[in-house]
Amino acid sequence: MKHPALPEPSDLVKQKYAELISDLDSAIDEKNDGILKDKLKCGPGCSSCCERFSLLPIEAFAVQNAAKENREDFNEDPGKCVLLINDLCTVYESRPVICRTQGLALAYINHDEGTIEVSACPINFPDDFEFTMDHLLDMDSFNGRLAEINLQYCEESGLEPLKRIPIPELA
Ligand code: SF4
Repeated sequence: MKHPALPEPSDLVKQKYAELISDLDSAIDEKNDGILKDKLKCGPGCSSCCERFSLLPIEAFAVQNAAKENREDFNEDPGKCVLLINDLCTVYESRPVICRTQGLALAYINHDEGTIEVSACPINFPDDFEFTMDHLLDMDSFNGRLAEINLQYCEESGLEPLKRIPIPELA
């Protein structure tokens, strides 16, 4: 089922989302050029993390827009993202936050309980990898900003902010 065209966000929402993506990419580059230099095996052809995710409406808009312009075909393998063609992402420049962070080691901090949950790519980080905080990308502030931007988009567009949209419906 194809999702109807999502409404265009306001200029302010677009600007905030672009700033979020830019800041996230900078934080990732900093890790890749620093403590993780030459450690990650990510690159064209490695698509093991390209599953059929679902997205918040603001990111669904970005992907739907990019898919409209770039997609020539779609991947029919039910275990793979529909936008993955020949092991390459067809909306790479507009891929959502979850796709940008795949391959890294992500930290989700529970300040109340004083715990850190780590989610790391098993290809890049074997079971015996000894993490320090420097290896980890703290996702809390990025996810918080994404939630705020999504809320603003949904309020101005009359959309349900918590209703995630599966990527296959956007292709
Ligand atoms: S949007 Fe692109 S990077 Fe994200 S899962 Fe699909 S093919 Fe992979």
